[in-house]
Amino acid sequence: MSRGTAIDLCYLVAFIGFILALKGLSSPRRARMGNIAGAIGMLIAIGATFGRAGLGHLALILVAMAIGVVIGVPAARLVKMTAMPQMVAIFNGVGGGAAAVVSITEFISLDTKLLATYKVLEVLFGVIVGCVSFSGSAIAFAKLQELMTGRPVTYPGQQFINAVIGAVVLALAVTVLVTSSTALLWVLLVLALVLGAIFVLPIGGADVPVLISLLNAFTGLAVAASGFTLNSNLLIVGGTLVGASGILLTRMMSKAMGRSLPNVLFSAFGSVVTATGTEGPEGRSVRTSTPEDIGVLMAYARKVVIVPGYGLAVAQAQHVAKELADELTKRGVEVFYAIHPVAGRMPGHMNVLLAEANVPYQELKEMDDANPQMSTADVALVVGANDTVNPAAITTPGSPIYGMPIIHADAAEHVLFLKRSIRPGFAGIDNELLYDPKTVMLFGDAKDTLQKLVSAVDAA
Ligand code: NDP
Repeated sequence: MSRGTAIDLCYLVAFIGFILALKGLSSPRRARMGNIAGAIGMLIAIGATFGRAGLGHLALILVAMAIGVVIGVPAARLVKMTAMPQMVAIFNGVGGGAAAVVSITEFISLDTKLLATYKVLEVLFGVIVGCVSFSGSAIAFAKLQELMTGRPVTYPGQQFINAVIGAVVLALAVTVLVTSSTALLWVLLVLALVLGAIFVLPIGGADVPVLISLLNAFTGLAVAASGFTLNSNLLIVGGTLVGASGILLTRMMSKAMGRSLPNVLFSAFGSVVTATGTEGPEGRSVRTSTPEDIGVLMAYARKVVIVPGYGLAVAQAQHVAKELADELTKRGVEVFYAIHPVAGRMPGHMNVLLAEANVPYQELKEMDDANPQMSTADVALVVGANDTVNPAAITTPGSPIYGMPIIHADAAEHVLFLKRSIRPGFAGIDNELLYDPKTVMLFGDAKDTLQKLVSAVDAA
């Protein structure tokens, strides 16, 4: 077998690893195995690439890999679950930037006059999409890291200006295609960077994670384009897998939020903020209680449904939530967790947190399985969730979350909210359920309150 065939075979095995990774990551039960399959695939791909004939600049490659490891390993180990979306954003942006750099370097190093038209097209695609992904991801990172406002940044004539810059980018691309001018390609690169930034500025709040998924797809496509430029099957297949799965994920996330993708990208959603503190708009007040009383209520309930949300992640309350569930189960109470597909700040956020606390998978019910059971629950214990249980999604046609499927916590006999105030969730809108006569609020950090509930149930 020739060296080339052996390397292609290794790449084939790597592709299978990547596909198994995507398959595994679609379910909490198989996610760990999926991750391992992907990592093994990547190791095989890197090993095979080192085996390629004529690989130059070995020392530089090793230095670049060492820098990547030194930055990547601690970042992945130390990142908080709540900061995961911005880490994905920044890593994704670097990928897009790398694809753009590969494309432009190839363009410069080859005799551009001799390049076939389709080769120049590949380069142009890689540069434009890679740059948009790079600068767009950098702005998304800055928004999520609160280095700038997370709300939509809008100004008069914004969509028109964006459209004009987009048209100039396209016109420049056509000119480069005809003239093969390297100087114009640099101008195009700068304008594509500007386009990425201004495309992302008006997207804010709850829409940023969807945007990151879309930019992730862009990076995949840019990598695939640079794979065509370099004649690398590895980059073509790897990039296409990232592009396709990113597009699917983007669609699934918009659907789970009850919105269309154009609405997510162009509606500057998430600019409303209303109530603060513990008093609602126009002085409306909510019912509160003590952990002791709530502990007794839960200890003698038949069925308790825990509805986790972003606040559970902020409070790192997953372990004590499991403690409470165990304590209740010991007393014969039926307990399960109702998981909304966009609870938290990224897909699978709650699954990952609860798996970390060793919550058995059979206790995690997806929204569609949980909802029919909500009306038979004595208690819906909403831990740091808000938008994902907000009935406005069904009852208020003008609401920004109208159409988003929700967990029907309101169908339970008693609704308990564990949060620090009556402030709104990520979408920035009031939640009528907080003022419902059957709702009781326990104000405070979710972890502290859950700890008090564990003691109260134990003592009941
Ligand atoms: P929300 O953001 O609606 O609400 C979270 C609540 O947690 C807040 O109201 C906050 O209230 C409370 N909270 C914060 N910190 C704590 C704490 N330490 N202890 C107790 N409570 C706390 O969360 P949901 O999970 O219900 O909804 C997710 C939102 O994110 C949706 O709007 C969704 O569309 C959006 N989104 C999610 C994506 C995903 O993939 N998961 C992707 C894109 C968007 P208070 O400040 O009063 O404590």
